[in-house]
Amino acid sequence: MIVVIKSGTPAREIERISQELNSWNVTPEKSAGRHQVVIGLVGDTAALNPQQIQQLSPFIEQVLRVNQPFKRAALEFRNGEPSTVFVGTSSGVIAFGQNCPIVQVAGPCSVENEEMIIQTAQRVKAAGAKFLRGGAYKPRTSPYAFQGHGESALNLLAAAREATGLGIVTEVMDTADLEKVAQVADIIQIGARNMQNFSLLKQVGAQDKPVLLKRGMSATIEDWLMAAEYILAAGNPNVILCERGIRTFDRQYTRNTLDLAAIPVLQTLTHLPIMIDPSHGTGRAEYVSAMSRAAIAAGADSLMIEVHPNPAQALSDGPQSLTLKQYEQLMQEMAVIGKSVGRWSETPISTATQNTIHLQELALRVS
Ligand code: PEP
Ligand code: MN
Repeated sequence: MIVVIKSGTPAREIERISQELNSWNVTPEKSAGRHQVVIGLVGDTAALNPQQIQQLSPFIEQVLRVNQPFKRAALEFRNGEPSTVFVGTSSGVIAFGQNCPIVQVAGPCSVENEEMIIQTAQRVKAAGAKFLRGGAYKPRTSPYAFQGHGESALNLLAAAREATGLGIVTEVMDTADLEKVAQVADIIQIGARNMQNFSLLKQVGAQDKPVLLKRGMSATIEDWLMAAEYILAAGNPNVILCERGIRTFDRQYTRNTLDLAAIPVLQTLTHLPIMIDPSHGTGRAEYVSAMSRAAIAAGADSLMIEVHPNPAQALSDGPQSLTLKQYEQLMQEMAVIGKSVGRWSETPISTATQNTIHLQELALRVS
């Protein structure tokens, strides 16, 4: 259930309404959008009478029920207003959301050694990426395949951040590693195979770093949003959804089926930002450009692309990885579509960009 507050309502009155609702055995959660304040009510709302709530204050515009099984993740929970996820990095704050320029995330599937990760970081940054991705703990289908370099790879990601100022995205597979991963990651990735690892979801929900939640390979959109709900319910509001392809019947020509229809569907269901991963989505480097351009045209808020200095020698996911040169070329191609939808930021990360708001500025906005 949500309580929509009239614009211009004094903060003290909003506080009073929240306190009143709190005594009704539901948890009120205030969210201040661009145009209005909404108080979301979580808990056993079935017994509540919307008219009775309406009578609490003349400043209440309306009271509406959220008709979805997911609540905090629902677009209705913010009365139709998309949310922005602000991610702090060593270079400033990067914003993900429908009102922001598209955020580019790039890097190898796995962090293999210092030279390759630093070189990749420098080149993707120069091409316009804001985040470096790279796996330290790798979820591999075969137990005999390369499992990632673990903690030493986290140190290499920290070195790449030091060298470039890029934000870091890396996956956590096990609750036991969460603390270590959270020390290095600016965004913690939950991989497709762990999308319904509910104890892991609860734990990333109970810490502060933003979470990138990849769609499980056989997950429906509702399963996926319910997984996001676990993170939100545990107290972390900063969730970005990442579509990375689902299992259908053709595995001969593509690794997965990239569900780009998920973009407009999610936009009707949730306020959370949407990222597309065309690398795992297709499994083939030669299809990444077409799917990246399509994702931007369809309204993606961010793209995550696998890039490797020498894909033929990659320890994981070589066939879907772009070379550094191919990535530079792809950025040019994406720019054409990005500009046409008015969501392309040209400035490199070292100078303040449209979506790089320095921490001080953010603090001012929040206060
Ligand atoms: C990855 O990003 O390298 C990865 C393992 O992705 P997914 O969980 O989508 O398979
Ligand atoms: Mn990969």
